Amino acid sequence: MTEVDVPESHPRYESLLTRHRIEAGVEKGITSKQGLIAQGRGEAYDYLLGERTIPSADEAARVAAAHFRLADQAVVSVNGNVAALCPGEVVELADATGADIEVNLFNRTAERMERIADHLREHGAEAVLGLSADGRIPGLDHERATVDADGIGSADVVLVPLEDGDRAEALAAMGKTELVIDLNPLSRSAQSASVPIVDNVIRAIPNITEHARDLRDAPETALRDVIDGFDPETALGTAEDAIRSGDLD
Ligand code: ATP
Repeated sequence: MTEVDVPESHPRYESLLTRHRIEAGVEKGITSKQGLIAQGRGEAYDYLLGERTIPSADEAARVAAAHFRLADQAVVSVNGNVAALCPGEVVELADATGADIEVNLFNRTAERMERIADHLREHGAEAVLGLSADGRIPGLDHERATVDADGIGSADVVLVPLEDGDRAEALAAMGKTELVIDLNPLSRSAQSASVPIVDNVIRAIPNITEHARDLRDAPETALRDVIDGFDPETALGTAEDAIRSGDLD
């Protein structure tokens, strides 16, 4: 038995563990109630994808890693679900790529921002951006537009796991290279991404870290080849086909 009293032999162990982490996140005040609904949507798609990383999502994770390597400034955006599900993995990704971590909430309250920042620091984060909120994403209303001018505001590459569709579209319109992790290939976030990774955030983030380590010494030309060989629409179409056909290879 582990943190949630579910035996590891249970066939849906990972899914139940994930659900309990979100529940604990709500209890700790880091995940919003709407986050529970987002979790439910994600679980449904993960179930249809066989709760594993399909090959096209693995390729997208490698492309994301290449973007991290070539970025002038990369930021990993963290919301209440991501903070509850994989805080340590976010810190590892930031360490491996030199990216900044920024708390970025749809339902922003000062208290939740602080709790998430504390939670990330407890998991090893040194600097957490997002609290000063002195920048704005053009085209969105006040609360949802708020970002750090020195973080997401000035970054050229932004990883937004589980982003709300409106904000994902607005960030893409700012000309940023937007890396999106979303289990729903039909969501507006996935559709507006430069690199959509159709996978569970708990698998995708450590996978990007692994690819980034693997690409650590790759020359720029090799990184550009990885990026140029990727087509976001093909990746989304492949994920949708996998869901429709049940063929996950
Ligand atoms: P759209 O992008 O179409 O506007 P939305 O903003 O309404 O969608 P939400 O209701 O905020 O989307 O749902 C969050 C999204 O995050 C859903 O598409 C869901 O599939 C996805 N999601 C939820 N949990 C996870 C997870 N653990 N890993 C990856 N994606 C997830």
